Amino acid sequence: MKKYDTIFLDRDGTLNPDLGYINSLDKFSFFDFTFDALNMLKAYGENFCIITNQSGVGRGIIDIDELSRINSYILDKFYENKLSLLGIYYCTDHPDNATEFRKPGVGLFKKAANENGIDLKRSIMIGDARSDIQPGIKLGMETMLVLTGRGKETQSKLDNIDPTYCAKNIFEGAKQIMSENN
Ligand SMILES: [Mg+2]
Repeated sequence: MKKYDTIFLDRDGTLNPDLGYINSLDKFSFFDFTFDALNMLKAYGENFCIITNQSGVGRGIIDIDELSRINSYILDKFYENKLSLLGIYYCTDHPDNATEFRKPGVGLFKKAANENGIDLKRSIMIGDARSDIQPGIKLGMETMLVLTGRGKETQSKLDNIDPTYCAKNIFEGAKQIMSENN
């Protein structure tokens, strides 16, 4: 059976509806299928890790303390659902002044890998944007494009980018991985 070292997750548009710059906890909610999907996925990789661009902070739209509150909420929900979340790695860079830590840069993936001893080549990245799939491929990971959030738009202009999986949402994606391994 396939076993991933770590299942990397994008946040907005993948785990929760992407409302644009989510600047308060009351604007954040998981898709109703997210935890069912993650519970299915954990059979194929016990550790999760969130990698998210939050340029709203760099743009002055999101207060860093509010982002911390949202992160605490996410950590609590993973804990309640008995899922191992290695961390929430976020990049607050403004795109005009982005470092390698802003996706599609690979900086946060490498940081997470160093801090947690992750074998990236045995891992998967799940996200709704080209900037999620690109670093995954670059790092030798499997990738899954989900068609929630910006996913449909991403799918229409994938060009030479070829994700390992493409699914209607993370729940359907989890089912794809499960059916391959039955
Ligand atoms: Mg996204």
